[in-house]
Amino acid sequence: MQKLKNKTSAVVVFSGGQDSTTCLFWALSRYEKVIALSFDYQQKHIKELECAKNICRKYGVEHYIMDMSLLNQLAPNSLTRSDIPVDEQAPEEGTPNSFVDGRNHLFLSYAAVFAKQRGISDIITGVSQSDFSGYPDCRDIFIKSLTTTLCLAMDYQFDIITPLMWLDKAETWALAHELGAFDVVRNETLTCYNGIMGDGCGHCPACKLRKKGLDTFLEKLNA
Ligand code: ZN
Repeated sequence: MQKLKNKTSAVVVFSGGQDSTTCLFWALSRYEKVIALSFDYQQKHIKELECAKNICRKYGVEHYIMDMSLLNQLAPNSLTRSDIPVDEQAPEEGTPNSFVDGRNHLFLSYAAVFAKQRGISDIITGVSQSDFSGYPDCRDIFIKSLTTTLCLAMDYQFDIITPLMWLDKAETWALAHELGAFDVVRNETLTCYNGIMGDGCGHCPACKLRKKGLDTFLEKLNA
C-alpha cells in the first residue's frame, strides 16, 4: 500500500483486538509517528492488554496504558465482571450485555486530551457501523457528534478517523491482508469474550462475528 503520510502523527486507540490492530497497521502505513493508547478498565481478560503491549513492543510503537478503573465501578458489565456471563444472543431490545456504557465516549475523550497535549489532531479508532453489534457508540453519527464536541470543548481541530466504519468483518480482514498484517491480526490479537487469543473460543458473539468474516475473506482470497 502506498504511504500517504499527509500528516505526521496520530494517536490510535488500541485494545489489542482485531479491529484496533488493523487500525494500528493502517496508521503505521500513513503516519511518520504513531502512538498507541490502551485503557485498563479492569477488563476480565487482561490478556487483551498483554496482546496490545506485545504487538507494540514487536513493532516498535510507542505505547501508553491509561488507568480507567473508574469505568468498571460505574458500569459493571459482562466484559468487566467474571460473575456476569456474556449473552450468546443479542437481546431483541436495548444493548447487549457486553456493551459498556460510555466506553468509546470516555476513551476517545481521554485520547483527545492526550493527543492535544502532544500537538496531535488525528485520533484513530476501529469502530464500525457495519458490524456494530448493537453498540450505539460505534456509529458514524456518534463519532461526528463527539468530534464536534471535542473541538468545541478544547478549541482544537480534532479529527477522529475511522478506517473501518463502513467495512464488514470480511473487508476488515482484507484490509489487514493488504497492509501485510494478516498474520499478526489473526494470531496475536484477542477479540474473544472468553479471553482466548487468535481464533478464540469459537462460540461467543465476538468469535462468531470474527470467524464468519474470516471464512468469507478466505473464500474470496482462494477463489
Ligand atoms: Zn470467543
